[in-house]
Amino acid sequence: MRIGIVGGGAAAVALLDSLAQLDALPGTVTVFEPSTHLWGGRPYGPDLEVVLVNSPPVIMSIRHGDQRHYARWLGERAAAHLDERLGEPLVPRALYGEYLRQAAEEAAARLPVDVQHGRVTGVERRGGEVVLRTADGHGQAVDRVVLCVGSGTPRDHFGLAGTPGYVADPYPLARTLPGVPRESAVAVIGSGLTAVDVVVSLAAVGHTGPISLLSRSGVLPHVWQRPVRYEPRHLTAANLRGARTTGDLAGLMRAELDGLGEDFDAFAADLLATPAEDPVVRLRRQIAAIDAPDLGRRILQQAAHTLGPLAWSLLTDRAQLAGEHYRTAVSVSSPMVPVNAVQFDRLLERGQLTLVRDLRTVEPSSPGFRIRAAGGSLRADVVVNAVNPPPHSVPPAAAPLVASLLSTGLATANPAGGLDVPSGAPLHVVGDLAAGGTFVTSSIPAIAARAAATAQALLSD
Ligand SMILES: Cc1cc2nc3c(=O)[nH]c(=O)nc-3n(C[C@H](O)[C@H](O)[C@H](O)COP(=O)(O)OP(=O)(O)OC[C@H]3O[C@@H](n4cnc5c(N)ncnc54)[C@H](O)[C@@H]3O)c2cc1C
Repeated sequence: MRIGIVGGGAAAVALLDSLAQLDALPGTVTVFEPSTHLWGGRPYGPDLEVVLVNSPPVIMSIRHGDQRHYARWLGERAAAHLDERLGEPLVPRALYGEYLRQAAEEAAARLPVDVQHGRVTGVERRGGEVVLRTADGHGQAVDRVVLCVGSGTPRDHFGLAGTPGYVADPYPLARTLPGVPRESAVAVIGSGLTAVDVVVSLAAVGHTGPISLLSRSGVLPHVWQRPVRYEPRHLTAANLRGARTTGDLAGLMRAELDGLGEDFDAFAADLLATPAEDPVVRLRRQIAAIDAPDLGRRILQQAAHTLGPLAWSLLTDRAQLAGEHYRTAVSVSSPMVPVNAVQFDRLLERGQLTLVRDLRTVEPSSPGFRIRAAGGSLRADVVVNAVNPPPHSVPPAAAPLVASLLSTGLATANPAGGLDVPSGAPLHVVGDLAAGGTFVTSSIPAIAARAAATAQALLSD
């Protein structure tokens, strides 16, 4: 069987690794990737040293079923990257890219893998095979296609593209931040992990001007707590299969915390206070709780990564989570790392960083920009767009290909976002474009799990 993998980022590495672990080789593999930085994808290419992975090692293993795969690779390198507060190593994202590269190369030593430098722009169906067409017009016939193209880029909510001083996509920060004058007033749109990356990186390159973080909700990511090994007794995959509502999930969580002697009501009240509480007060409380012994938040975060997709597929009241509680759910399931939280707080304390909530508009106002929020207006010389793209958004580089997959019937658009694959179609999707995931952008464990299942499916194909 000839397998064509479109995209050479983390999802492709996870798939190659899973294929290489199989007892029987399902066939030859061709990977199509336009970037010169193979295997890192959008997040894990060369960047500033201060741009770190967002999760402890246990969340970063590319091999499903082997949580320590990445930690073993890190080995002695870990000591140089220890986050003292977390008690775990957090490496620059480019170094994690090196892990991905080595994992891909190890897999390629066991599999017949060919890498084609190019962007796939369309497909043609020819009998049982599919021809993948690249931007230079080259066509390659394969029997199965696996789409691993990642997720979208930040949306331009205020139509600022092309305005001088507007940074439409901050990554890699090593490329975008040198163009920002040191004393300039910088406004960062967004308050999620990308916005935290931008703020921390500005500080690292010696920015001295004021920084404003603009968002509607003002909700910041929660802060990772020191990992504690704990095997849930109630919030398990087996028990989850009987859950239909968020109330059922809360019941499992209550049972878990009751068993530990922790106060579920206080835990839930704290979570529900997320959108209303002053974000700076909340941030400081969370920094103070990095090594607190309570397990509630740790258990919830672990469940969000390991059981999230299963829970999501069963819930009948998803709209509430994806609507009213969306900010809180993203904030708790995608926390910032302690080292960034502490730096962020230092900038707030110093008065260099200000949080602006209830953002209304950002307009060009030569020179610079005028920003209006509920509390008044301000000016900025530079605006950095750090809005997190919504899950299931199509990366611009894959837009023509996705249109072609839809028009040839190889895929259909799921009403809730992402691509469904009609039964029997020679296509698989790994990563954020796969329909049916949660409303949170796919993390490494979710991608690794899907890649392992896809490798099995290719084998049985
Ligand atoms: C900035 C950032 C930081 C993150 N940090 C973490 C983290 O610390 N921990 C975590 O668990 N998750 C993190 N994530 C989530 C992230 O989604 C995954 O970690 C992972 O990188 C996704 O891998 P992927 O292969 O699906 O997508 P990507 O890594 O984006 O790779 C997709 C690849 O497809 C290629 N491509 C696109 N279109 C085409 C085409 N038409 N033809 C050929 N190739 C194409 C692209 O060039 C790219 O190389 C982060 C995400 C971002 C954006």
